[in-house]
Amino acid sequence: MEKEFPIKIGLEIHGYLNTKEKLFCMCLTSGDEKPNSRICPICTGQPGSKPMLPNKKAVEQVIKIALVLGCKINHDKGLVWNRKHYSWPDLPKGYQNTISGAYSVPVGEKGKFQGIRITEVHLEEDPAQWNPETGKINYNRSGLPLIEIVTEPEFSSEEDVVFWLRSLMHNLSYIKAIRKDLGIKADVNVSTYGERVEIKNLHSITDIKKAIEYEVERQIENHKKGITQTRETLTYDSAKGRTIKMREKESGEDYRFIPDPDLPTIRLDEKGIKKISAGMPEMPDVKLKKLIKTYKIDKANAEILAKNLELVEFVESLAEKGVDVSKNISWITIELLRVLNYNKKALEEVEIKPEHLADLIKEVEKSNITPLKAKQIMNEFIPKSFPISKKSGIGMLPEEEVEKFCKQAIKKNPKAVKDFKSGNSTAINFIIGEVMKLSGRRADYRKVRNTILTIINKKTK
Ligand code: ADP
Ligand code: MG
Ligand code: ZN
Repeated sequence: MEKEFPIKIGLEIHGYLNTKEKLFCMCLTSGDEKPNSRICPICTGQPGSKPMLPNKKAVEQVIKIALVLGCKINHDKGLVWNRKHYSWPDLPKGYQNTISGAYSVPVGEKGKFQGIRITEVHLEEDPAQWNPETGKINYNRSGLPLIEIVTEPEFSSEEDVVFWLRSLMHNLSYIKAIRKDLGIKADVNVSTYGERVEIKNLHSITDIKKAIEYEVERQIENHKKGITQTRETLTYDSAKGRTIKMREKESGEDYRFIPDPDLPTIRLDEKGIKKISAGMPEMPDVKLKKLIKTYKIDKANAEILAKNLELVEFVESLAEKGVDVSKNISWITIELLRVLNYNKKALEEVEIKPEHLADLIKEVEKSNITPLKAKQIMNEFIPKSFPISKKSGIGMLPEEEVEKFCKQAIKKNPKAVKDFKSGNSTAINFIIGEVMKLSGRRADYRKVRNTILTIINKKTK
């Protein structure tokens, strides 16, 4: 995209907060995915039903996110729940409860994250899901706690937006405040020469990127034709790859915000916020520096580790247990990740204890077991690791046994021996492989290689 045009982009990002229960009732936020299986009179807006006190965990998650985004937390002012009215089949009550709207005090404001100023961060509830084709409504999502993050219009290209969003998601994954399974929803505001348009309800980073690209092009083309852009609300048709006008902005969008008489004003206390802040982990950029500077891990590997807080913490505890993590980094970035990938599991889904891997690595360093055997043992660490002292028959084999297996392997593979002698130096690997199999991977690689060479060379003489 050409940069000489004035481009301003601002985001309103919605994410699902990671809580067990919904915002104003005790229905579960996940589990049974059958439509309308997690509902009650409150989240389906039955007449006479009143909300319960707002889910504390949701408020706590919003505070954490606001802190990550460098926001000022409004602990000195009451946070008022508003009713935001609109009429749509997905909204059984006729209004959405939100701590936002004109004159409202959001949970956090005036932040800055990776160079972009954050206008505000607030909490609200999700409406239900309405399928316009079947007319059916699924209330499972109705009442899920949502965060909205509003940025200042300070992005100037779709690449900046994508990079920033990835970084945002990465940082938020460290505090586990947002659910990964439900993804994000974003409204993207774009202006070039004229007024801004708002592209509603984009569901993926890819769509966000494509929608901005398309919209900037479109506005610039129009500008060249002398058409002036007015305030508009658009949607993005991802199949056709284009934005579509929904309505003129100024018409109809009066939400008639009023304070909800059924919900008490939230007062955050400063001590509680300090406590939440103290319990938060270090963020990815801090961890990355630590991995490189303190643990002397090379940048490429450090970046792999920093993607995932569990991996970083795993490395930190290995180091605490006396493992030279710099020297042994491949046990994590290659072996541990290999085992996890093979089982399609994340580290937090399995029970691999750092002390068990630490012992395994130390045994390898002391040449008590072979690296190959250790890798095989690691395969068995899923779903649950164990102390290797519990496992017998894993130790490195003595010289005589290695020799015995070498002789067997040579005898069994005359062709490989012949190939090797006639100059194919890699043929020896085949014989080494045989010895590894015969020995249950307990023979030291170098010993095996040397012994095979000695035997073969003796024979030639
Ligand atoms: P609305 O009610 O229209 O959503 P908001 O104030 O909530 O109004 O929307 C603000 C969003 O619009 C923010 O993300 C902000 O960055 C963005 N925005 C404001 N002015 C511009 C502009 N000139 N160009 C692009 N985006 C803008
Ligand atoms: Mg908006
Ligand atoms: Zn409910």
